[in-house]
Amino acid sequence: MRKLNRKHMMTVLMGVVLLTALSFVSPAMAEETTGAEDTVPAGQETILDQQKKQDTKDVRVLVMCGHGQGDVGAVGCNGAYQEYAYTRDFGKRIYEALQETDNIEADLYQTKYDMFQQMRATVRSVGSFSGNGNRRKQLLKAIGSNVRIPDLEEYDYALEIHFNATVPSGKDPRGNGVMKGCGIYVNSYKASSERKIDKKILKAMKGCGMKIWGGAGLFGSPDLLNAKAFNELGINYSLLETCFIDDKDDMKFYRKHRDEMAQAIADTISDYFD
Ligand SMILES: [Zn+2]
Repeated sequence: MRKLNRKHMMTVLMGVVLLTALSFVSPAMAEETTGAEDTVPAGQETILDQQKKQDTKDVRVLVMCGHGQGDVGAVGCNGAYQEYAYTRDFGKRIYEALQETDNIEADLYQTKYDMFQQMRATVRSVGSFSGNGNRRKQLLKAIGSNVRIPDLEEYDYALEIHFNATVPSGKDPRGNGVMKGCGIYVNSYKASSERKIDKKILKAMKGCGMKIWGGAGLFGSPDLLNAKAFNELGINYSLLETCFIDDKDDMKFYRKHRDEMAQAIADTISDYFD
C-alpha cells in the first residue's frame, strides 16, 4: 500500500509540474508535452495490470503444434510449405496472444515433440479406447509414465494446430482465387455443450475473412488419436485445420492475416472461459 501511495503522490506531483510547464509553452509544444504526461501514468498502469493478470489467471490452456519430431506433415504448393513448420508458426502466435489475456495461463507443448507420436507410443498398454471415458484411469496411468507429456488433467482446454491438405486432384498450388478454408475436428464423443468453443473459434476465423470449409466446418471423428485421448480424460480438445497448405489462396491469406487470426482465437478462448 505504501508503494501505491507513493506512486500516486508521484503521479499527482508530476501532473502539477506538467500543468505548470504547460502554461509557459506555445500550443505546438503543448501537444508534445501532453503526450509526455500521458506516458507516466500509462507505464505505471501496465505494471499494475501485469501483476493483476498474474494473480487472476485461473484457466489453463495447452497449445500443441501438430507433426514435427521427424514428421513433416503435409507439404503444399510444390514443396514451398511444410505443415510442421506452419503449425509451429501459428501455434506460437496463438500461445503468445493467449498469454496477453487476463484469464488464460497458456502452455506451448514442447515444439521439438509431436504429441501424436508421444501419445501413440504411450497408449499401447491401454488397449482400445474410444473417447467415452471408460478407460480413463488406465489412460491416465499410461500418460503418467511418459515424462514428455505434461500432466494433462491440469488443463481446461487443449488446442492442436494443423494445416489441411487435399487429394492430388484437389490441390491448387498456383491459386485460382478461391480459398478452401478452415475446419475443426473433435472426437465423436465430445459433448455438444463443449463444442460451443469450436463453433465460436470458427466464427472468429470467419470474422477475420477466412472461409469455413465443408459447410459448418466442425467434424466429429472416431479415429483421431489425440482427440480420443483428451476426450477420454474429459478435457475439452479441438484440432484446428487452420487452412489448406496445398492451396495458394489459403496460404496467401494465412500469411497476411495470421496475427489477426491468432489474436481472434485467443480472444475467443479468453471470452469463452470468462
Ligand atoms: Zn496435420
